[in-house]
Parts: sequence; structure tokens; C-alpha cells
Amino acid sequence: MKRKKQNPIKLIGMCAALLVLLVLLFLLMRMVLTNRQPQKPESCSPDAGPGEIGTVTPAPTIVDLYAYFDWTETTTIKVYDHRADKLVDMDLEEYIVGVVSAEMPAYYSFEALKAQAVASRTYTLYGVVHGGCHTNPDADVCTNSKCCQAFSSQERMQKTWGKDYAANYNRVAQAVMETAGEVLVYDGKLCDALYHACSGGQTEDSEHVYANALPYLRGVLSPYEDPMREENVDFGTDALVELIAAKYPESGIDAENVRNGIAIAKAYDSGRVETLRLGKTTITGKQARNLFGLRSTMFTIEWTQKGIVFHTKGYGHGVGLSQNGANGMAKHGSDYREILLYYYTGAELASYGADGIQPLAAPTPGNTDTAFVPEG
Ligand SMILES: [Zn+2]
Repeated sequence: MKRKKQNPIKLIGMCAALLVLLVLLFLLMRMVLTNRQPQKPESCSPDAGPGEIGTVTPAPTIVDLYAYFDWTETTTIKVYDHRADKLVDMDLEEYIVGVVSAEMPAYYSFEALKAQAVASRTYTLYGVVHGGCHTNPDADVCTNSKCCQAFSSQERMQKTWGKDYAANYNRVAQAVMETAGEVLVYDGKLCDALYHACSGGQTEDSEHVYANALPYLRGVLSPYEDPMREENVDFGTDALVELIAAKYPESGIDAENVRNGIAIAKAYDSGRVETLRLGKTTITGKQARNLFGLRSTMFTIEWTQKGIVFHTKGYGHGVGLSQNGANGMAKHGSDYREILLYYYTGAELASYGADGIQPLAAPTPGNTDTAFVPEG
């Protein structure tokens, strides 16, 4: 028996009408079941103000790094986790998220976080290219801040940040993603992108702290640091003498001669102590920093009735990027590229990937001039 032929246009129309009806029915059922209006898009400010009882703030979801990066093309590095005592393969960018989380406060300006991401990525790759982690021969890097860079695992971030974990993680991950693959180069080669917490107002020439004079690690003014991490460290006369005699007995320092026996012998233009005289011997500013447990070598000394006071400024070795200064520059309108090119003299931004190192365009003038000139 021959079937009656249907009109195809009529058939499509009927199907479409049925589909619309089904969708409407589904939406109606959903509204009745949940007994509420269709949801509005989530607010951009998830934090409820104090006393807003009854306001339920949806927990921010974690940025899915795996959805962003093309994992087949990014670099995998071998990371030695010193807390768990194991070697793990990790994507470079995922590692950088953990480093920035541990090395810079997540509340710092977003452009400062981006600058830190590029500095940390460059520092990591420079290390990989130059033999990897010094204390773990099988690893490219380790998670011990005393050897390589500090690193926070997801577990550690949750522990440290508590209820702010998701928001902080997203902020740091975003800074890393927006600069993915970007590195600093000088003369076409990766920079040894050293950084520190706070310079105390001026960064230092690399050869005054480390062995090599690198052209991109020159001392520059760092005017927007706030606060300068000033600290006073005091010792009573007896404790001071005991400390010096134990470490440097050849100094001949005793309770009688100590007040005339300690003096800053030489200081760099930045104000960092180059050498300190201790009786019959002289030690470097770095040795003095270690001996007296000071935050930096930028210090002066003052005698009081009870003993000595070291007035220190800054925190860290003072070479390369000042994290606090980067935050200050960002607050004054500089973007991460201006920050980096200011603290790494003569360096350029480049992208690092499958095609090797490719130069990136210089920053375009934004809120500030391209060439950052500090005031005063
Ligand atoms: Zn290491």
C-alpha cells in the first residue's frame, strides 16, 4: 500500500511548534517547582556588607586553568615538592600560580600581580636553562623558598586564605593567565629576574649583593613603596658582645670596647651598608644582616643607654623588582609592563613558547608616560 506523501514544509512547521511548546512547558515546570523567578546574572560584588542578614553570597567558583591553557603546547617542568618529598610534573603556568600565591600578597594591585607573574616565570625559566634546582638534581625547581621560589599548593592556599581562598586564587590565576608565556629578555636572552619584598626607597646594583654585574639589574629609585617596612632591632650591650664574640672572636670585641668598636665603614649610594667594622675585623653588610637578623642591609646604627639599635629600611636583598614598589607604581597608574621595564633596566618583554623567544611590542602609553620617571 502506498503511503500518502506528507508536505515537508508543513511537517517542519509542526515539529518547530511542538518544540517551542515543549520548551515553554519545561520552563513553566521549572518555575513552579523552584517557586521563584528566573535568576538574574550574579552580581560582580559578591561580598555582602556588614549586618546584611539573610543575604546569601554565592561562593565564587575556581577558575578552570585547564580550560584556558592549551596544555599540549605549554611547558611541563619537574617540581620537587619539599614538603611532600616527591617530584611531580607540573605545567609551567600552573606552577607560576602557586609561586605568585606564595611570593606576593593576593590583595596587591592586579598589575603588580601580573608583573610578579612575569618576573617569576622568567626567573623560573632562567633557572631551568641554567641547570635547574641546585639542591635537587632531578628537579627543574623546588618549592623551598630558601633554594628556589616559594610555592603554595591548592591545599596550602586553602589553609592560608580560608574563606578568601576562591577569590584570591581566581585573582592570582587571572594575573598569570593574562601574562601567560610572557618573559623578560635582555639582548635576546632570558633575564635573571631577581625580586624582593621592599627596597627601602632604592634598589641595588646586582654586583653589590651577588657576584655578577648584570646590565638589567641596576639600582633605581623606588619612590612609591608604602610602607618602607622600617624596623628597629635592638640589643643590650651584653647580648651584643656575646653575639659578636661567638661568631667573630677575632674581632676582640668585649664589654669595654664595644661602643667604640662598631661602626659602618662603607656604604653604597643607595644607603645599603657595604662593610661594618667590628673591632679588629670588618664584615660585609650581608654578614651583618645575617648576624643581627636584620630585614635588609639598608641600616644605620644608634647607641642608647642600654645598648645598640639598628634602624632598617626595606625587606630583602634589594635587587631587581621591588614588590612593594610595583604595588605602588600600579596604584599610581602604571601597568605591569611599565613596572617591569622600570625595575629591569633595558630589558624587553618577549613571549616564550613553541616558536622560541619572540619579542613583544613595547608598552603603549596608558595612564602614565611609557618611560616611568619617579618624582623627586
Ligand atoms: Zn631548588
